[in-house]
Amino acid sequence: MAYFADLILPLPLDNRFTYSISEEEFQFIQPGMRLAVPFGKNRIYTGIVAAIHQDPPKVYEAKPIHQILDESPVVTEKQLEFWNWIADYYLCTEGEVMKAALPGAFLLESESIVKLKKSSEVDWDALNDEEYLVIEALQRQSSMKIQEIEQLLDKKKVLPVINKLVSRTLVDLNQEIYEQYKPKQVRYVRLNQAYSAEAEMHQLLDELSRAPKQREILLSYFALTARSKKSLKTKELIKESNASASVLKSLIDKGIFEEFFLDTDRVGFDGGSQNKEIHLNEDQRHAFEHIQDNFRENRVCLLHGVTSSGKTELYIKLIEKAIQNGKQALYVLPEIALTTQLIKRLQSYFGDKVLVYHSKYSLNERVEVYRHVLNNSEKGRIVIGARSCIFLPFKDLGLIVVDEEHEATFKQFDPAPRYHARDAAVVLAAKFKANIILGSATPSLESYFNADHNKYALVELTRRYGNVLMPEVEVVDIKTAHRKKKMTGHFSERLIDEIKECLKEGEQIILFQNRRGFSPILECNTCGHSPQCPNCDVSLTYHSHNNQLRCHYCGYHIAMQHKCMACRSNEISTKGFGTEQVETELKALFPESRIARMDQDTTRGKYAYEKIIAAFENEETDILIGTQMLTKGLDFRKVGLVGIMNADNLLNFPDFRAHERSFQLMLQVAGRSGRTKKRGKVLIQSYNPHHRIIQQVSTADYKEMYKEQLEDRYQYKYPPYYRLVRLTVRCRDFSKTNEAAEWLSRSLNSVFDPYVLGPEFPPVARIRNEYYKNILVKIPQKQSLGKTKRIIQKVLNSFKSIGAYRSVRVVANVDPQ
Ligand code: ADP
Ligand code: ZN
Ligand code: ZN
Repeated sequence: MAYFADLILPLPLDNRFTYSISEEEFQFIQPGMRLAVPFGKNRIYTGIVAAIHQDPPKVYEAKPIHQILDESPVVTEKQLEFWNWIADYYLCTEGEVMKAALPGAFLLESESIVKLKKSSEVDWDALNDEEYLVIEALQRQSSMKIQEIEQLLDKKKVLPVINKLVSRTLVDLNQEIYEQYKPKQVRYVRLNQAYSAEAEMHQLLDELSRAPKQREILLSYFALTARSKKSLKTKELIKESNASASVLKSLIDKGIFEEFFLDTDRVGFDGGSQNKEIHLNEDQRHAFEHIQDNFRENRVCLLHGVTSSGKTELYIKLIEKAIQNGKQALYVLPEIALTTQLIKRLQSYFGDKVLVYHSKYSLNERVEVYRHVLNNSEKGRIVIGARSCIFLPFKDLGLIVVDEEHEATFKQFDPAPRYHARDAAVVLAAKFKANIILGSATPSLESYFNADHNKYALVELTRRYGNVLMPEVEVVDIKTAHRKKKMTGHFSERLIDEIKECLKEGEQIILFQNRRGFSPILECNTCGHSPQCPNCDVSLTYHSHNNQLRCHYCGYHIAMQHKCMACRSNEISTKGFGTEQVETELKALFPESRIARMDQDTTRGKYAYEKIIAAFENEETDILIGTQMLTKGLDFRKVGLVGIMNADNLLNFPDFRAHERSFQLMLQVAGRSGRTKKRGKVLIQSYNPHHRIIQQVSTADYKEMYKEQLEDRYQYKYPPYYRLVRLTVRCRDFSKTNEAAEWLSRSLNSVFDPYVLGPEFPPVARIRNEYYKNILVKIPQKQSLGKTKRIIQKVLNSFKSIGAYRSVRVVANVDPQ
């Protein structure tokens, strides 16, 4: 009898790969376990078992596996199904999904590492020459790569040798996989048992009367442990008693204290659970009931709640309900909205049941969260995180909350899988028969359309919590202001006045400057030249803080130029304006005020973002300038004014979603104003004050925006009426890019005419020396989505087989944003 395992490998393979296994292995191996397997020339990869069976592969001979890495599955059946769905829907491979889904530490390419097993007795006489050499070498160096062993033995096929050593438990392969993940250890102290009785304790204190510092520590220890706890973090004790580590050490040396270590989860938080009661107000209670009713019918709920209507409190109540029923709950939100503010709110309510899964966390932290979820442990019952947390190994998922569901960043752009976390979450919820709620103050047209057509249930919160009024919106016509010379730099007189007023009242101010297309560039007043990136088709942008010109696409940079690089004229100036420029002008206008800036440049590093937010929260900052980053779910108490520096660039962006996005963005920023008692103010500066979208923002009229945009979408054949698949052709050779794109569009047109657009160069047509060209396939509602994609896949497969286009890459993006 022959037995086989199909594996998903982290390689660009279209299919699973089959390996042969022994009967014994067949009995042991389960789908979802990791196996180390050979692939290609003596390379070993870690793969995930997708299936085990008895049918030999048809076109190749199955190789035996190398090693089983797990005692039990690390990937669940449901995950495997889910990966398969993602690969199928988003036109990518399961291997690509696997790489996105698992913490990197799980897939370390074991190919490379061999280690001597600790505590193994080597019986040298039993080794043959080659084995002897390997073990001897491993005793001198802690680990060796397969390659190094190949060199050592001077031959290519060393795996059998290593295999033997593995089976004799002399060496380990893939040791790195296990060692990569090390729980962090924390030092604790406790009093030696001998002193626990009261009499001994007093005697000890007497004995120490001549060592006041040591006595001090002891007293602090008693004070700190008075309430039941018996052990203390060493750090905490030292801090509280104001003592030095050496004083504590002498107590440990005397045997009065004992020190020991405990694993701690890095991801845990120190703050204990306070479980503040939440009393929903009438509107919220109503919405809560409505949601529950729909959940009972297994319907996806869209919660349309205006900014500050208390959606978060509703989510908390829903989560509470889910975990009371013994289920796991997932709270997904866009990366930039993942703030300490929100995490703290959840943690103060649920304590350490809440874990955070975040790309900024280290490998280890991610493995910890993964393990907790896999074990369905109490800790991690609730996970909050950005899009990739939909890939966690849930066992019994009961609820998914997708917050800020309209956010474009839910869609992964690069690399594959180019999935949309909101849409994938809906599929995930269905797999678990779990409830799912999508929430936003400005829902995406797609979701609202689904609610409109009764595919989703719509639940609304139309009033702000505490009946705070929606902010008053004023539009400032900066065209007229310019003409009347009422502008100071980019600030209208109105805006300056309002800022003054606000500062006088002791309130805070947020100024919003759109990121896209607003970076300052250098331009020559004589010949019009502006310095370009040599690798990409874009102008370099000016960064004043380090006086550099940089490319936003590839990172290329040069020093700031003071003469035109084309004509040597020194009449050059910066055009366009970014947050940095707003900051500079603002500092000149309000030299007394405390001003901070939040954008990509100021928020690098793990806590940079949190620090800026905290400073603003603690009112150490008067005016905060920022990009889209500051629109998201932040709950500030004392913001009296929000200024939108320029609405037009948002509106004029060449994209079918530009108007929808502008509306969402402006309304969200506006929502940061006046969240407590007093009514806030919003000032929008624009050259087009009568633009429909600006009017709709002023009246906060979502439905009007929805209706109008929907008409456009219908007329121009865009989502939600048509589905889109975008194919991007990329190549370093310009004419090959064109030819390949033509070939593809011809093939697609022969099937899908008239629903193929392009090929067309995108606005930035060359990045890192690669040319880009796009083809857009539109899929009408009545046309089968699955069938269309299978045809596209077929066309792509024939494309791949064309020799002349071997250097051309085609990237498929389903539902591009
Ligand atoms: P949204 O998420 O809709 O923007 P939030 O949930 O942040 O709104 O609520 C806005 C403010 O109102 C927050 O400070 C929140 O703590 C407060 N709030 C909302 N609902 C309640 C409630 N039921 N009890 C007490 N405070 C509430
Ligand atoms: Zn010039
Ligand atoms: Zn560049």
